Amino acid sequence: MAGSGFVSEVFVSIQGEGLYVGLLQLFVRLAGCSLRCGYCDTSESQEKTKKCVMIETGRLLDNPVDSRVLADTVEQIIGRTSTIHSISITGGEPLEQPDFLETFLKLTRRSGKPHYLETNGLHPEALERILYLVDIVSLDIKLPSLCGGGDFFSVYERTLSLLRGTELFCKVVIDNGFDPGEFEKAFKMLSDFNQDLTLVIQPATPRGDCEPIDGNTLVDLYVKASARLRNVRIIPQCHRILNVR
Ligand code: SF4
Repeated sequence: MAGSGFVSEVFVSIQGEGLYVGLLQLFVRLAGCSLRCGYCDTSESQEKTKKCVMIETGRLLDNPVDSRVLADTVEQIIGRTSTIHSISITGGEPLEQPDFLETFLKLTRRSGKPHYLETNGLHPEALERILYLVDIVSLDIKLPSLCGGGDFFSVYERTLSLLRGTELFCKVVIDNGFDPGEFEKAFKMLSDFNQDLTLVIQPATPRGDCEPIDGNTLVDLYVKASARLRNVRIIPQCHRILNVR
């Protein structure tokens, strides 16, 4: 049903990743993702859970959640906390529920807050459909060897072509098991798209089988990527350091 969808949690917190790090956002975490990245730190949102948690109030909503109920909740939270910079639509993978997402984003336009979409970028048809409702895109370029394999790069060519003219930055998460050839392919693809595009290299936060990458390797990656791209940053997951959600 277009008017309802699976949501994992709704909460207010500090953005801990990428170019908008440090800003207060309202996070709407949609449930469900068909990838299985080894470094995933929101594995509970990979599945479509029975309940959605409104962290601010402790209220539990049954999934699927009606888009109007969700939009009303978002508006109420923004009404109480006007310093929220933007609404972060995250997951899971938001673009796996395009019908619901489009309905919800249309409703939350009235809040006046920008829509910030965090996506793995592997659903270009869905992105094309909802892009007119999105203000900022944080595009995670997934390295196939860390995320279950697949012909991701040909999909990214298509996704990037849709994003010309949109406020955009890209992120590549790497851990100790990353394939340097895939990383090189990623930054070359991005520089062919736009040399001024910002690339954030994000070392995965160590957990379970996900081992930290050493600092010298990070510097080496920075230097290599900067030979093709003008704006490269290395930014870890800051919300883990701040001990917020
Ligand atoms: S795409 Fe995101 S939510 Fe899905 S498995 Fe990878 S890190 Fe987790």
